[in-house]
Amino acid sequence: MSASRTLSPGAPNTPDTPTVVHAFAGSATDAYIAREEAFGAHNYHPLDLVIDHAEGVWVTDVEGNRYVDCLSAYSAVNQGHCHPRLVRALVQQASRVTLTSRAFRNTELPAFCETLAALCGMEMVLPMNTGAEAVETAIKAARRWGYRVKGIPAGRAQIVAFTNNFHGRTTTIVGFSSEPEYRADFGPFTPGFSLVPFGDIDAVRAAITDDTCAVLVEPIQCEAGVIMPPDGFLRALADECRARHVLLIADEIQTGLGRTGRRFACDHEGVVPDLYVLGKALSGGMYPVSAVVSRREVLGLLGPGSHGSTFGGNPLGTAVAREALQVMVDERLPERADALGTAWLAELRARLHHPAIVDVRGRGLMLAIELREPARPYCEALKTLGVLCKETHGTVIRLSPPLIVTAEELAWVTERLVEVLG
Ligand SMILES: *Cc1c(COP(=O)(O)O)cnc(C)c1O
Repeated sequence: MSASRTLSPGAPNTPDTPTVVHAFAGSATDAYIAREEAFGAHNYHPLDLVIDHAEGVWVTDVEGNRYVDCLSAYSAVNQGHCHPRLVRALVQQASRVTLTSRAFRNTELPAFCETLAALCGMEMVLPMNTGAEAVETAIKAARRWGYRVKGIPAGRAQIVAFTNNFHGRTTTIVGFSSEPEYRADFGPFTPGFSLVPFGDIDAVRAAITDDTCAVLVEPIQCEAGVIMPPDGFLRALADECRARHVLLIADEIQTGLGRTGRRFACDHEGVVPDLYVLGKALSGGMYPVSAVVSRREVLGLLGPGSHGSTFGGNPLGTAVAREALQVMVDERLPERADALGTAWLAELRARLHHPAIVDVRGRGLMLAIELREPARPYCEALKTLGVLCKETHGTVIRLSPPLIVTAEELAWVTERLVEVLG
């Protein structure tokens, strides 16, 4: 690779070749890593770079190397790193009031709920913080609906989920994961879930019983390796749920808010679920904000005392989230993801011919390269060229840059991908 010149940190988002100075023993990078390894739990296996600051699609490490972020914190920074409007919303609200708890009302929560409900075409919003908490909230709401509206006998409500799902890391959620690594020695697990193969509508039909209150689905299984459902599956799932009086819960934490080229990945098949579960880009990566969005018939069942969170719906988070949603609309992020992603997928399919490649797929700016061998060495190679990707499920390289990325920047990334996988 050429190491022509260093871009000044904070320079505008123009594609260029970053100068990559390899970390050496005794470097600042090594010192940070050693300290983290010594005192932090080792529940992740990050690439060995230490990010110091970021702007838009570009991140800069402590050695001064610049990279294009092709992960976007698992689609949490769809609006780009440190979006000026989000920084402004955060700073302004931080100096007014940050946390009231729900014991008292605040000025920011009403507009957040109204805006998000309207954007989803729904009636009610229940704000939480992390994605896993929002999934837990949806599970509780669906069970309560099952007992109080559908009339399921006490203690028998069942939820159908899919193999290879990823819905977060709480004990209830990992209890219905099919991934041994997520579950090992964390039991006993919560009963009430059954798993069927993703994309198999006949298996869903067979799994639904009179005790089924909900089907929980990711419209694309991102963590499992960007697994796409067969065409028509989401439509058929929605129809089946309606016919069997079962709620459809769409976990759009990673696919929602523009990532796949629509506001929601369900939109690709004209599907409106009964509950949306949102997180990640809901706050543009500024601050953890998640939410369940649904009808009054469902969320109206959660009265005082039934559910809560000290930080859920706090004024700092909701002020930032409302701005993050407005940025998505104003900057036409779903439309950008659609146009840029469609062109990029075609380009990558035309130009990547490495024998290790099994498939190049995806929708919008949720793309993936599946290999027949471990993806980690390829991610390491891309890192040295200034492109940050993280392997998922061992053999898949996910490509999900911030949705504010330009065609020029994507072309720059393509050249690096061709160097490694052409
Ligand atoms: C990230 C993710 C979650 C969990 O969100 P956290 O904020 O990490 O708890 C749940 N579902 C999906 C589809 C996700 O991508």
